[in-house]
Amino acid sequence: MRGRDPRNQASEHQDMILTSDEAHLEEDFKETGRKLFAGECNFIWAAPNIANLPPQGAPEIAFAGRSNVGKSSLLNALTNRKALARTSNTPGRTRELNFFALGGPPETARLRLVDMPGYGYAAAGKEKVATWTKLMQSYLRGRLTLLRVFVLIDGRHGLKAIDEEMLDLLDKSAVSYQIVLTKRDEVKATDAAQCLAKTLLSIGKRPAAFPEIIFTSSEKGEGIAELRESIARLLAERGF
Ligand code: GDP
Repeated sequence: MRGRDPRNQASEHQDMILTSDEAHLEEDFKETGRKLFAGECNFIWAAPNIANLPPQGAPEIAFAGRSNVGKSSLLNALTNRKALARTSNTPGRTRELNFFALGGPPETARLRLVDMPGYGYAAAGKEKVATWTKLMQSYLRGRLTLLRVFVLIDGRHGLKAIDEEMLDLLDKSAVSYQIVLTKRDEVKATDAAQCLAKTLLSIGKRPAAFPEIIFTSSEKGEGIAELRESIARLLAERGF
């Protein structure tokens, strides 16, 4: 399930008047996305602090979300792996930025996937939250190769105050971001449509938000091909 901001009339109109050439391009992105994620994907780096980031190289897309939103499951579904993102969920690594190289060894990779530490731990103290925020701020503001952050939101609950704080941080950092709703299989069709519409409405006011939302289920594979397609399109648009 995918939703676009209805106020984005130009693109909606464009969607309806695709020429045959453009329609072909549409198909290509889905196939490009499939191929992109069918390749090799390897863990390359864990950064516990900003002094230890890997040198910039291939373009990066990052994945953020509150803990338990389904981020590891989505990364595994995207890359067709069972345990790619397991490292991020092991104790002690949950505060790190984890980097994966997609499509070959780090030097020749097409894209890097960055698993950002989950936020909103009930048990996290003030000090830990401050350290997390500092790491996020420094990464978001200083990373020229970062193309977009995909912010995962639990489709059963929609945007919560803690998610809004993350979006505030992204807006302040002027980094493009796109919402991905998770756990579609746990939501009734009418509730899913409502959640999509409500979320689109609230991000409409946000300057750095990309006006399209994809509703996914890692469990059932729903929306995964669309997400890969969106990433392939983003790479092409940015000239990669
Ligand atoms: P993370 O903490 O954000 O990395 O979340 P996980 O990927 O570890 O998932 C948290 C919980 O949500 C686990 O119990 C998963 O099995 C469950 N989960 C994740 N994605 C889905 C989904 O698409 N559908 C359903 N029903 N459960 C999911």
